[in-house]
Amino acid sequence: MNVVPRSEPIAAPVAVPLPVPYGMLAELTHRCPLMCPYCSNPVELDRRNAELDTESWLRVFGEAARLGVLQVHLSGGEPTARRDLEEMIRHCVKVGLYTNLITAGVGVTPERLQAISEAGVDHIQLSFQGATAEVTDHVSNFRGAHERKLAVAREVRRLGIPLTINSVVHRANIHQIPDFLELALSLGAKRIEIAHAQYYGWALRNRGALMPTREQVFEALDVVEEARERLKGVLTIDAVVPDYYAKYPKACMNGWGRQSLNVTPSGKVLPCHAAETIPNLDFWNVREHSLAEIWQASPAFNAFRGTDWMPELCRSCERKEKDWGGCRCQAMAIAGDAAATDPACHKSPLHGHLLALAEADAAAGVTDYDYRRFTTPDRAQ
Ligand code: SF4
Ligand code: SF4
Repeated sequence: MNVVPRSEPIAAPVAVPLPVPYGMLAELTHRCPLMCPYCSNPVELDRRNAELDTESWLRVFGEAARLGVLQVHLSGGEPTARRDLEEMIRHCVKVGLYTNLITAGVGVTPERLQAISEAGVDHIQLSFQGATAEVTDHVSNFRGAHERKLAVAREVRRLGIPLTINSVVHRANIHQIPDFLELALSLGAKRIEIAHAQYYGWALRNRGALMPTREQVFEALDVVEEARERLKGVLTIDAVVPDYYAKYPKACMNGWGRQSLNVTPSGKVLPCHAAETIPNLDFWNVREHSLAEIWQASPAFNAFRGTDWMPELCRSCERKEKDWGGCRCQAMAIAGDAAATDPACHKSPLHGHLLALAEADAAAGVTDYDYRRFTTPDRAQ
């Protein structure tokens, strides 16, 4: 999504007792061999020469641990594209952070996995774009991706590293949820994350080709409910429900600036992965500020922290500390105002509009993908 700056920066309105973040998403690089149409990374990705160097990342991990962060998610792009990944993992272990590596698994050799294991990684999340080779290879636009992922999964388990399977579902693969569950079981995963595509960043370009129908979504919910009962104690199923067909919005990030932070490859610190789609938020960078300073004083973190920023509709609502007013990026994308009630909420005057958009996209019958790729600023739309 292109961001058009407003003339005035969004102010930092709140002074509340600060919670401690327990999770940090470290986007080590935007480089990735796959080309998923649902990629929620920004349209303009950070180039390799803009990435933080090893020393800076090590400092950031130390600062995160001192700030109270317990878990760090090493992500991307494809984090194994960083040759210093093992050094980072060793450092995270040293400073007491639980390390979760989130990888697409393509191009990761058994030798590399051995090195990652020896560095002390605690957990690996492996993404599958489909439950079959045909779908994975098509959605990721990478022939042979599925077979490579299967090999990585087996190696991860052989090394004794706990494994979670990630699957992003959308119109072309939502019917495969039972197959995703079987795949996870067959690979010895103890957990599967089923997330519906989120329409930010690059994914917004493909909304018409990705949006599932209402029937598909409700059928998927039934499948997940039944499987949760059946597989209790065997496979943990984390399913993120798409909120455009729901009554209430999701508690996005469990509240802005409450529990987690996100460091981009070039060192900007965001309250959520998609926060850069909101114009005129002032994101501080770890090159200029410590993580603690950013968590406490960054205008971007304070803009929507707590409940004081809320419009009256949310401020007077009994759910305001349950869903925290929903998603600021969705409010921006649909209402044109990041401080509006999330249009996914049935009380929002724009709820009908959001639903109509979703239903129109689902019915449009678009099947061609605009595959993820690097853009140059003048080509970005
Ligand atoms: S969503 Fe796909 S293209 Fe985007 S970073 Fe992840 S694996 Fe790469
Ligand atoms: S009005 Fe606001 S706080 Fe209440 S349910 Fe809707 S989004 Fe949540």
